[in-house]
Amino acid sequence: AAARQRMVQRLTQVHHIAMPEVLRAMAAVERHHFVDSALAGQAYEDTSLPIGFNQTISKPQVVARMLQLLLQVPIPAGAKVLEVGTGCGYQAAVLAQLFHQVYSVERISGLHHKAHQHLLDLHRLGAQIAGLHLILGDGMLGYKPAAPYHAIIAAAGGEDLPQAWLDQLAPGGRLVAPIVQKQDGHQALVVMDKAVDGSLRRQVLDAVHFVPLKSGLV
Ligand code: SAH
Repeated sequence: AAARQRMVQRLTQVHHIAMPEVLRAMAAVERHHFVDSALAGQAYEDTSLPIGFNQTISKPQVVARMLQLLLQVPIPAGAKVLEVGTGCGYQAAVLAQLFHQVYSVERISGLHHKAHQHLLDLHRLGAQIAGLHLILGDGMLGYKPAAPYHAIIAAAGGEDLPQAWLDQLAPGGRLVAPIVQKQDGHQALVVMDKAVDGSLRRQVLDAVHFVPLKSGLV
């Protein structure tokens, strides 16, 4: 708990995360349950960590930053969020602190099952993780059964924004995703807002480094 509190302090002081809801959510979720026990000592450092299957859990700073961007637009009561890339389930658990319903899609079945186990363990320990749905599937297709989403967040970076995500974003909603920029081949964080009339507005923010978005199931 003390290490987690220090992590939250660093998020405010070093990384300028100011939104109280985000800080509360980051403080609530025990990140050490989502990594192998050998790495638990590093769980609250600002570092990405391996989660198996060649994938990594994002740095706390990056998770907090993306959540803060998502919450900058008004979130209606009962809002739904789509996460592409469940990984170990950490960010999904943080999203569950902030949104009424979380739909999280993962393409690697081993990770999908691992995340499921982590979240069950956390639930048994009494954590608040209601409204969380884990789906084994190709997140490039979004997840149509629960669309539209007020927020969409991708934890893996593709060459382009899949059309399905734009279609499944609700009017007034916001999408945050790392996307490879054609000019230089590097990933940058992209924010897309869908206005009430359905028109889209894109902002390209700073450079980031995420694992690649891939299609198909494994
Ligand atoms: N949010 C995760 C981060 C995991 S890393 C966490 O907190 O642990 C990104 C994940 O995206 C990887 O697990 C990778 O398998 C997954 N991914 C990549 N392409 C995908 C796709 N098309 N659909 C679903 N998941 C995908």
